[in-house]
Amino acid sequence: MEYKKMIVGRRKKIALVAHDNKKSEMIEWAKFNREMLLRHRICGTGTTGKMLEKELGVEIERLQSGPLGGDQQIGAKIADGDIDFLVFFWDPLEPLPHDPDIKALLRMAVVWNIPTACNRSTADFMISSPLMDSDYERIIPDYDEYRKRKLGLSK
Ligand code: PGA
Repeated sequence: MEYKKMIVGRRKKIALVAHDNKKSEMIEWAKFNREMLLRHRICGTGTTGKMLEKELGVEIERLQSGPLGGDQQIGAKIADGDIDFLVFFWDPLEPLPHDPDIKALLRMAVVWNIPTACNRSTADFMISSPLMDSDYERIIPDYDEYRKRKLGLSK
């Protein structure tokens, strides 16, 4: 497969999502990394975003709550090229009503090669990368081959 390159600028668009049992961890992580996060643009699912606004003292773009479509909104933003970095603290021990949306969001992140942290240590490694403060050439598979695929449909 061919690849295309997309330049991710210094100021990145970061999406933050945490399930209920992971929200305190997200808040702790975001407060610890507040200075770095504020150098970028942040958006989040409804409740996560609201809590982070309060704890960080900044305005955050707030989408719908996850179970009401927020995860899908983030997935759509990824497909539109509007998200560069995803921190998604999902709960591995609790079944959730929007499980298909969670899977879909994680899938979009892989389709578009978005750096994604699903736990705190990965988020620590990612946010301390020198790439956070520099441009980055993100490689994306050239999906034109897929778009032009022959379907063998009858005329
Ligand atoms: P919330 O959504 O931030 O609105 O709680 C998170 C999720 O469940 O995906």
